[in-house]
Amino acid sequence: MFDVRCPKFEPNTCHAGIYIHIPFCVRKCPYCNFYSITDHSLAKEFVNALKLEMAMYSGVELLFDTLYIGGGTPSVLEPAEIDGIIKKAFSLFQITSDPEITIEINPGTVTPGSLESFRQSGVNRINIGIQSFKESNLKFLGRIHSAEDGKTAVKWARNAGFENIGIDMMYGIPGETEKSWLIDLETALLLEPEHLSCYMLTYESGTRMHKEMKNGTFSPLPESLAASLFGSTGDFLEKNGYIQYETSNFARSEEKKSRHNIKYWSFIPYIGFGPSAHSFYGTRRSWNRQNVSGYIKKVESGTSPVEGKEDLTREQQIIEAVFLGLRQKRGIDIGFFNDKFNVRFEDIFSETISGLTKKGLIFIRDDRCALTGKGMVLLDSICAEFVCSEIG
Ligand code: SF4
Repeated sequence: MFDVRCPKFEPNTCHAGIYIHIPFCVRKCPYCNFYSITDHSLAKEFVNALKLEMAMYSGVELLFDTLYIGGGTPSVLEPAEIDGIIKKAFSLFQITSDPEITIEINPGTVTPGSLESFRQSGVNRINIGIQSFKESNLKFLGRIHSAEDGKTAVKWARNAGFENIGIDMMYGIPGETEKSWLIDLETALLLEPEHLSCYMLTYESGTRMHKEMKNGTFSPLPESLAASLFGSTGDFLEKNGYIQYETSNFARSEEKKSRHNIKYWSFIPYIGFGPSAHSFYGTRRSWNRQNVSGYIKKVESGTSPVEGKEDLTREQQIIEAVFLGLRQKRGIDIGFFNDKFNVRFEDIFSETISGLTKKGLIFIRDDRCALTGKGMVLLDSICAEFVCSEIG
């Protein structure tokens, strides 16, 4: 049914992924541009619609090995609702016997009981959006929880039996220094998470924080300092036993890498359900409408909530393969790339490769092209150089 070709180095990532978007948050963080609303009055109708949308895909010829419940803040739903969603997925889709089932939670929205319920529902990976252990940072980011809440959520998750806990952290916050960021990271490490995602604060257009930054309400961290924090994050976490497998993602071991997120970077199909969720299979990317009530109406009338789709041209796929490959520490699998596109990577990008190699930004080894430490900071501009290359 779909063109499913897998990078030869990681065959288990051939299985597809299910993403479920829960579009509710307690409060909107001023930097966030994910789709979510703070009015939860339609939560029940939404959960029903979500199950109806999932049923539209029953019989899909894909075998799934990940289920990722993200958002928004999935933990604002009742544990019984999360349980119902997971059960529905298992009743409709072919899922392997050892799936990775992740839920994203916000520390301000869980209790020991809710975490135990998630675990009993089969969730085996939990991703906790903590962002910082410094109260002034949490205030600036508009988070609903305290630093202590973040620590407590990790402890409760551990007590509930989670052996795969991820923490999201954020750096590049105005006023931050290398020292204060590393203290924040050290605090995170004391909780011994299996996974860490460290994102640089960015000011996405349309967000309140972007507007405030433009108005001069605050000054962003100088770019050079933010870039240096990026470098020190990798150095610090690698020194502490974490593997950096993607620009922002670190795992304590190979098994603790996010199996689901790796699909996004490896051309592996995934189907997204819920408002604003994206799907990808073969060469087609599609996305659902955002508005929760519009989404519910569409689905209840038996119509697909897909709002748009695009079929990637061969050239777009090549550029995407370069961009997604370079985001990963292991880099682009040249053999896979050549087979998939019936070209020779080193021929079509010969000038770009030679220029970037001379500058010490990329290297080719063991049939892979990857960024050097210096190159990782410049991911976007390096990708732009590949985009400008002539693809035959
Ligand atoms: S809790 Fe997460 S999804 Fe919700 S607004 Fe904040 S950052 Fe965005």
